[in-house]
Amino acid sequence: MIRSVEQYLESLNDGRVFYFLGERVRDVTTHPLVRNVIRSASMDYFFPNDPKYHDLFVAKNEEGEAVNALFISPKSSEDLLKRREIFLTTWRTGGGTQLHCMGIDALEASKVVAERMDRRLGTQYAERVAAYRRYLQQNDLGITGAMTDVKGDRSLRPSKQEAHQDYYVRVVDRQKNGIIVRGAKMHISSTPGANEAIVMPCRAHGEEDQDYAVVFATPLNAEGIKLIASEPPMRESGEAGAWDYPVTTAYGHGTSECMIVFDDVFVPWERVFLCGEWKFSRDVTYAFATFHRLFGVCRMTTELEMLAGVAALVAEYNGVEKVSHIRDKLAWLAMYAEAVSVIGKTSCLYCEKQPDSDVVSPNTIYTNTAKYLFADNYHQAVKTAHDICGGIADTIPTYADWTNPETRPWMEKYLGGKAGIPTEHRLRAIRLLKDLTNPHFQIGSIHGEGSLAAQRMFVYAGADWGKYKAAAKRAAGISGWEKDPVFGSLPDYPKCISSKMKPVDESYSL
Ligand SMILES: Cc1cc2nc3c(=O)[nH]c(=O)nc-3n(C[C@H](O)[C@H](O)[C@H](O)COP(=O)(O)OP(=O)(O)OC[C@H]3O[C@@H](n4cnc5c(N)ncnc54)[C@H](O)[C@@H]3O)c2cc1C
Repeated sequence: MIRSVEQYLESLNDGRVFYFLGERVRDVTTHPLVRNVIRSASMDYFFPNDPKYHDLFVAKNEEGEAVNALFISPKSSEDLLKRREIFLTTWRTGGGTQLHCMGIDALEASKVVAERMDRRLGTQYAERVAAYRRYLQQNDLGITGAMTDVKGDRSLRPSKQEAHQDYYVRVVDRQKNGIIVRGAKMHISSTPGANEAIVMPCRAHGEEDQDYAVVFATPLNAEGIKLIASEPPMRESGEAGAWDYPVTTAYGHGTSECMIVFDDVFVPWERVFLCGEWKFSRDVTYAFATFHRLFGVCRMTTELEMLAGVAALVAEYNGVEKVSHIRDKLAWLAMYAEAVSVIGKTSCLYCEKQPDSDVVSPNTIYTNTAKYLFADNYHQAVKTAHDICGGIADTIPTYADWTNPETRPWMEKYLGGKAGIPTEHRLRAIRLLKDLTNPHFQIGSIHGEGSLAAQRMFVYAGADWGKYKAAAKRAAGISGWEKDPVFGSLPDYPKCISSKMKPVDESYSL
C-alpha cells in the first residue's frame, strides 16, 4: 500500500505522549514549530505519489503489491545505488527520507541477524521480522530506529551501572504473551513523525548483560512510551522562519530528535526479534551501522553541496570570487563534497553480502571512510565558509529588521555587495550560511550516524592491512609480500626492466 500525505498526517493523531519545550503537544501536525518537522517527514509520502518519482520510490513486494521501495531488502549493487538515488533526491529537495532511513536500516539489521540466529541457534526470529516487514508494507508506516541508550557512566557495562539498572533499555519481565521493557533511548531522529520504532542495543554484551540484549518493534503510541523532543535550533516559523532559518525551518531539518522513555512497555512476542541472545547484540549494532552509513553519507553529500554552493555565492556577492586564496578555499570545499559523494557511491558498487542472508550491505570500509572524512573535516569546512563570508555570518540582522520600514532602507543601502546583486539575495545567502553552520549541524555532523571512534573501529578492524603491509614490504625489500593477491602478481620491478637496459656508464662520478 502507498499512503497519501493526508492519510499519513491523519495517522499521527494517535494519542502519543509527546513533549516539546516543556509542554505536552496533543497534535504534532498543528504545533507551530513541530509541524515543520512533520512537513519535511511528509515528503516521504509525497514522492511515491508523484508520477515523476513513482518508479524510483515504489516497488513490488513478494506478493506483487506496490509498496515503498525502501521496504524491499537490497540484494545487489543496483538496489543500493537506487537507495542512494532516493536519499539524494529527498535530501536535495529538503524533505529527507526521515521515516524510511534509521527504521529501514534497523529492519535490515534485524533481518540479517534473525536469519543468522535462526541458522546457528535454531530460533525462529526471521519469520517474525518478515511478518513485521509485511505489516509495515501493507500499512505504509513511517518508522524510526532507536539504538543509542542514555548510557549513564560510560565506563561501566549496562548491568554494572551504580545509580540504577535502567541506563540501557532492558527486559524487566518475560510474560506468556510478550515482554516488558524499561529504559530510555536518546537522540532518536524523526521520532515526532514516525508511527513505529525498532529498538536495538547500541553495544556488545556479556552474559551478565543478557537482559539488555533485546531487539523489538513498537508503535510510538504504545502505553508507557513518552517522547521528549530536543530544543529546536530555530524559534520562528512562517515567512520569518524561512528567511532567518532557511535550512532548519524551510528544509525542516529542525527538531526531530527525541528522548524515548520506555516506562514498562509491553511488547508482544511477535514483535520481539532478539531476546537474551547476548552474543548477537554486537552483530545487530554493526549491521545497523553498516546499513545506516549509506543514508548518512547521502545526507552529508547534499549538505556539502549546499555548503560549497553558499560559500561560492557569498564570495561572488562580496566581489571576492576571483581572489586566489578564496578560489583555493572554494576548490577545497568542492573536492571535499565530491570525495564524500564518490566514496559513498563506491560503497554501493563494492557492496558486501551479509553472512547467512541474501541481503547485501554497503561496503563497510568505504561507508565508514566517507562518513569519517565528512565528520573529521566538517569544522574545517565551516571555518572556511565563515572565513570567506566574513563576520556578517554571525552578526546579520533578522527578517524582522528587513521587513521594518524604518530599518529596511539602511539595510538595503549598507548591506549590499557587488553592484547588480540585490541586497536581498546577499542577505538570504548569508542567513542560509548562518543557519547551515549553527552548532546543531556541527554536533550532528560529528555524532549523527555514530561518533568518530566508531568509524575508526570499523576501518581499523576491516582494513586490508595485509595488502598495505605487502605494499610496504615489497618496496622495502622485506619478504612476505610475494603471495599477496595484488602485490604478489605485479611485474618484478626493477629487475624486469633493468635486464633490458644498457649497463651503467661507470665514467659518471656520483
Ligand atoms: C543529530 C543526531 C541524530 C541522531 N540520531 C540518532 C538516531 O536516529 N538513532 C540513534 O539510535 N541514535 C542517534 N544519534 C545518536 C548518535 O549515534 C550518538 O550521539 C553517537 O553514537 C555518540 O553517542 P553519545 O551521544 O551517547 O556519546 P558518548 O557515547 O557519550 O560519546 C562521547 C565521547 O565519549 C567516548 N566514549 C564513550 N564511551 C566510551 C568508552 N566506554 N570508552 C572510551 N570512549 C568512550 C566516545 O568515543 C566519544 O568521543 C543521533 C545523534 C545526533 C547528534
